[in-house]
Amino acid sequence: MNVEGTILRGREFDPVEGRVVVDDGEITAIEETDTDSDAIVLPAFVNAHTHIGDSIAKEAGGGLSLDELVAPPDGLKHRLLDAASRDETVAAMRRSLQFIERSGTGAFVEFRENGVPGVEMLADASQGLAIDPVVLGRETVDAMEAADGFGASGARDGEFGVERRATREAGKLFGIHAGERDSHDINGALDLDPDFLVHMVHPEELHLQRLADGGPPVVLCPRSNLVTGVGVAPAADLVERTTVALGTDNVMLNSPSMFREMEFAAKLYDVPAREVLRMATVNGAEMAGLDCGVIERGRPARLLVLDGDTHNLAGVEDAVRASCDGPASTTCETCCCLASDASAQKTILVNTVCHRVAQRTSITDRIDYENRDGVGIWIIDDLQETLQSGELAEAEDHFRETVTGTSMSGVVIVLENTELDGETMDHVNEKWTELGEVTGIDRTAYVSDGIERLTVANKNEAQGMEATGVASLDRAVEWAAGDTDIV
Ligand SMILES: [Zn+2]
Repeated sequence: MNVEGTILRGREFDPVEGRVVVDDGEITAIEETDTDSDAIVLPAFVNAHTHIGDSIAKEAGGGLSLDELVAPPDGLKHRLLDAASRDETVAAMRRSLQFIERSGTGAFVEFRENGVPGVEMLADASQGLAIDPVVLGRETVDAMEAADGFGASGARDGEFGVERRATREAGKLFGIHAGERDSHDINGALDLDPDFLVHMVHPEELHLQRLADGGPPVVLCPRSNLVTGVGVAPAADLVERTTVALGTDNVMLNSPSMFREMEFAAKLYDVPAREVLRMATVNGAEMAGLDCGVIERGRPARLLVLDGDTHNLAGVEDAVRASCDGPASTTCETCCCLASDASAQKTILVNTVCHRVAQRTSITDRIDYENRDGVGIWIIDDLQETLQSGELAEAEDHFRETVTGTSMSGVVIVLENTELDGETMDHVNEKWTELGEVTGIDRTAYVSDGIERLTVANKNEAQGMEATGVASLDRAVEWAAGDTDIV
């Protein structure tokens, strides 16, 4: 399938006339050529912060203070949610999700209340829709386990140390609200080393410095901040220091339209339209560990195609600005439909899915961890050196904590830049055999470019555990997960 028009290509959204060639859901080429098409082709949006659960109470808050509306247990929102059945709540959520889908969004990051049942309700509500939910459970570690990560209310409301640790060990996302009303909860949130912060309306110099020093991405919610009257985030300062994404926040306060959010961001913030579009697409995707949000070869074809021949978009000179601003929003919200036919004279979303890119977290300078489909992967750069520096001991503790008490049955150890000497081999033989036995793991695969993988596998003599060397990481994960017996 080809999609023709003015293509906003790559992270810079360079407008090029031509076609996006899509094969089996993937972008296989972007060809520059003359076309007859007026369409503007951009990546589908990633809404980086939503609370869809309150769909039953949209616009309920007229004349009420924020506390009267949302404060538990007697805020209006809670009374409305209590009075509704599960079916009614799920149906209301689904209506919001259908709007999200039809207004050009391909993925969204949801803070989902009510523990595990809440996570399950969102799964029910999003069934069959062409949007990828990234769901962060709230309240309990179980909700995090059932979801894609944990969404914390804010450092003012609790420590969240236990939840943070559990989320890191599961290799999942941890997000937290910070700096919405004032700056008091920002340091506490940053101390948790989260994967992202939400709001950051009130950062002080120290906080900006912490963001610049390798701090997390920030999600801005300009319309929500206007509704609640907390102010306007210093977007340009934030963009200078970290990755900034865009979210529509609680559906009770705003429609979950990324066009509307972009229009406010473009007009309120002192950042160029191109940056706003980046905030609404690739930045949110990267923050959430998704591979969509950008038109490049090899990416999923999660595309949004705007009909340039509508009354609104006709005469547009700058496709990037038009996409962020008023014209596109009215075009899309009124005539968007989902179709796999690019020739349809409507705004369409090309229907493919984003893929989850595994989250890699660092245990130490030289040792990373990721969890891929329930298989723990430890990536060790220079085994000998990590043994000497004590980093290996840290990673072995992490291994024990991660594997014990979970359903994980197989693991993968990736050995990079490894030379093996006698001391290292003795350590592996003693310590890794013991770890294999105390954790009761069924399978351990070692991956390396050279033959070290086989040498190490032979040295692990844990009873009841299979150890093997595998050349390819993908293959090793399949084997460790028990999906195949052949390596
Ligand atoms: Zn929020």
